[in-house]
Parts: sequence; C-alpha cells; structure tokens
Amino acid sequence: MIRKVTNSTTQNESLLFEQSSPGKVGYQLPDLDVPVVDAKALLGAANVRDEIEGFPEVSEVENVRHYTRLSTWNYAIDLGLYPLGSCTMKYNPRVNELVARLEGLAWAHPYQPEGLSQGAFEVMSQLENCLAEITGMDAVTLQPAAGAHGELTGVLLMRALLESRGNPRKRLLIPDSAHGTNPATAAMAGYSVENIRSNSRGMMDIEQLARIMDEDAAGLMVTNPNTVGVFEQEIVKVAEIVHAKGGLMYMDGANMNALVGITRPGDFGIDVMHLNLHKTFSTPHGGGGPGSGAVAIKKHLEPFLPYPRMKRVKDIWSWDYDRPQSIGKVRAFYGNFGVLVRALAYIMAHGGPGLRNATMDAVLNATYIRKGLEPYYDLPLTDPSMHEVVFSHDRQEKLGVKTMDIAKRLIDYGFHPYTTAFPMIVHGAIMIEPTETESKQEIDLFIDAMISIAKEIETDPQFVLKAPYNTRVARVDETTAARKPIVRWKPA
Ligand SMILES: *Cc1c(COP(=O)(O)O)cnc(C)c1O
Repeated sequence: MIRKVTNSTTQNESLLFEQSSPGKVGYQLPDLDVPVVDAKALLGAANVRDEIEGFPEVSEVENVRHYTRLSTWNYAIDLGLYPLGSCTMKYNPRVNELVARLEGLAWAHPYQPEGLSQGAFEVMSQLENCLAEITGMDAVTLQPAAGAHGELTGVLLMRALLESRGNPRKRLLIPDSAHGTNPATAAMAGYSVENIRSNSRGMMDIEQLARIMDEDAAGLMVTNPNTVGVFEQEIVKVAEIVHAKGGLMYMDGANMNALVGITRPGDFGIDVMHLNLHKTFSTPHGGGGPGSGAVAIKKHLEPFLPYPRMKRVKDIWSWDYDRPQSIGKVRAFYGNFGVLVRALAYIMAHGGPGLRNATMDAVLNATYIRKGLEPYYDLPLTDPSMHEVVFSHDRQEKLGVKTMDIAKRLIDYGFHPYTTAFPMIVHGAIMIEPTETESKQEIDLFIDAMISIAKEIETDPQFVLKAPYNTRVARVDETTAARKPIVRWKPA
C-alpha cells in the first residue's frame, strides 16, 4: 500500500502585514484607573520605543488562524516518519512533556535562591549520574546548549589538560567521514585539522592514523558509529595508538542511539564525548529549538569542567564556583533546563532494559529498510548497518536522477526527505535513519514509496525530476534564498 497525500489546506496565505487593517486589535483592556503619565518624560525618550511603521494590526482570530494555517504547511514527527539521517528524529513521548510542564520545574528561575532550587539540583544531579553510567564515563557537565557547543566545550577541556601538562599541541586528527561541526570545532579551539581517510569498509584507515599520530597531535575526534552508520571496529586499537603518544580521544556521541545499553564509550577508550540529548534522549528538535550537548569525561579532565559545579553538603545542594582550573562558563546559567528534564523523564520512563530495547529496535528498523531497498538502490558499504543506512544514487544517476530529486519526490508520498549529499564520502548519499519509534506498518509504507520512486525513475525519469507535485511550491531557489534573503517587509 502507498500512502495517498491529500493536501487539505490549499488556500494561499498572505503575510500578516498584508492582512493588516488600521485600528484592529487582538485584545481588550479595561479603562485606565491610574493617572496617565508621559512615558518618555519619565523614562527618557531613548528608552521608549516608537511605533513600528507598518506593524500589522489584526484581530485575535485572524492572528490565530494565520499561524495555525501556516503550521499545517509543515511536516512534523507527529505526522509521520522523519527519516533524516544523522539527526535521530524520534517521536517524543508525551510523558516527557507532562513532566517538563510540572509547575515547580517549568516555573523555576535560575536566579531563585539555592534553598528553593533543591528539586532542580536533584533533577540535574540524577541526569548527570544516568548519563555517566550510560556512557561509562566519570563526570558530566550539562551546560552546553547543543552538540556543536558540546564539541567546543570538550575540545577546550582537552586543550586545558594538555596545557596543564606543558603543551596544548597543534593538530587534531579527524576522519574524513566526520560531521562538518568537528573540523569547525577544532579550528575554533585553535587546532589545525588533519584528515584521516576512510577505507573501503567506511572505517578509518588505522595505518594512516598510526603514521601521523605524534606528540604534536592533541588527539583524535571520532564519531562512533560513524556518519556512514558503521561501527569503528578497531576503536580499542585506535585509542591505544592515540594514548601511546599522549593524545586524547574525543567522541562525537551524536550517534549514541546505536549504542545505549549495548556498549559504553568509556569502556572502549574514550576520554571525552558529547551527547545530543535532543537526539538520543528525545525532546522536540529541528528548526533551531533548544537542545543540550551534555559532555561526559574521564576523571583526568574533571578539574577543567565549566563552573559552577553542583555540590552536596549534608543533603543540601549548592553551587561550587571555586574551580581554579575550570575553562570557565560556556553558557549563561546551567544549560537548557527544560531539555534536561525531558531527558531524565525519558531515561526513567524507559529504565535500563527499555533503553537497550530502543537501541536494538533502532538498529533493527535501519536493517529492515536496508534489506527492503537493497534490490533497488546501490549500497556502497557492506558491513552491517547500525541505526542508519546509507545508499548511493549511482544506479538512478545513470537515468539523470539524483539523490535530491528522489528526496523531493518522497514528499509527494507523504514523507519527510531523508538526508541528501551527506556524508560526503559516499557519492550521491541517500542517508536514512528511521529510529526505533516507527512501527513496521510505517516503515513498510516508506519502503513501498522508495520502491515506487525507483520504478518511476526507470519508466519516466523526467516526471521525477519535476517533483514534488503536491506542495505549495515545488523547487525553490535555495542558493538565492540563502545568499540574498529578504527578511524585511516593506509597505507597498
Ligand atoms: C547533529 C550532529 C552534530 C551537531 O549537533 P547539534 O546539536 O546540531 O549542534 C554533530 N555531529 C553529528 C554526527 C551530528 O549528527
């Protein structure tokens, strides 16, 4: 069966500015019962904002309908599968939302006295302990606000430790399959990047590593399983090579959805890593919403962690700012607290066996898709897939159709596209990550859609090249949109 898409909301939506009619308001206030004062005289003219020219004036219902209609144009995880590889777009259980909205947590203020924040301390402390246990590491900081921010924090910790040993070193070694944030992080932390090639199995070339790892290299930044969805099977040996030269092992933990409850980075030689709590541990994400890039470390990096740290004396929590070797704060306050609450709720609702099951289901779902699509799409890597599977468009390209075109056509079948063109080491990548939260029915629909597209390409490639057909706009000029964005509305 193939999902039929009916786009029920087809009316066009004008800008709120264009709907504006002078004098309309979306609220009613009672008459003033205090004297009128001139705000500019009282506060100083510089502190009072003038009217914004052309600011839209609409009624409440017009405002509500405008945004509600716009929201129906979006695809969302609550509508169906979101197979965006590398992003772990899993469904977010509603129990997390329930817990995050509890009054004492939702209304907690970072400036409220420590005595009134004991529950918040307890939430953060329990989460730190859970994450340390899951990763096999000794301590965790919850400050970083996203994965890339966690990377920067982690590499600054490495630099601080090496500096305390006398030499921060100059280079960081990074496999060519890495996410773009890895080399960017290395550069921001003052390191030059040296690439390690991937071999034909999609794993890093360990001989090259052994050749170039020296006392000038701060260490290795590795993603495991890596971004082609393959587990780095030589990871213990890799860590030995890096450690033998006094370097440190950083792990990008964005792919922990493939490992939780099965194996622990702390047990295979990692010194410091980040987790994307907004990937592996649920939380609505995408579109730049709040996240958490918690960083887990081994003991030798502990003195350098961002301050303040939590401390507990006689059952009372407080903040400890007395951390002379700390790299300092990396963020205002203590992290995106709402995301931390959701992560802890997710972990506790699952329990150990539940988390392990989630991991196994994520791998099972990716493997099921791989088996279903293998006859129709080229699979450049033959080692077992972990939580995601990467095909290539090689076969379709011969008929003029590329990964982006297939992704566009997928929209007509009612699915969010998979990840296109990343990882860059796979030619024409079709990168699919179903996650554990999808049922067999949903995944079968997705497989049917992909097979149907493969057949369309064989009979009528031109048709696929013009997809999508069911959306309001078909092929937007993304380059111009990025280079020359129009972000200000001008009254006609
Ligand atoms: C998502 C991701 C990142 C970056 O995480 P953000 O939270 O988006 O900053 C880094 N590495 C990998 C492999 C990722 O998938």
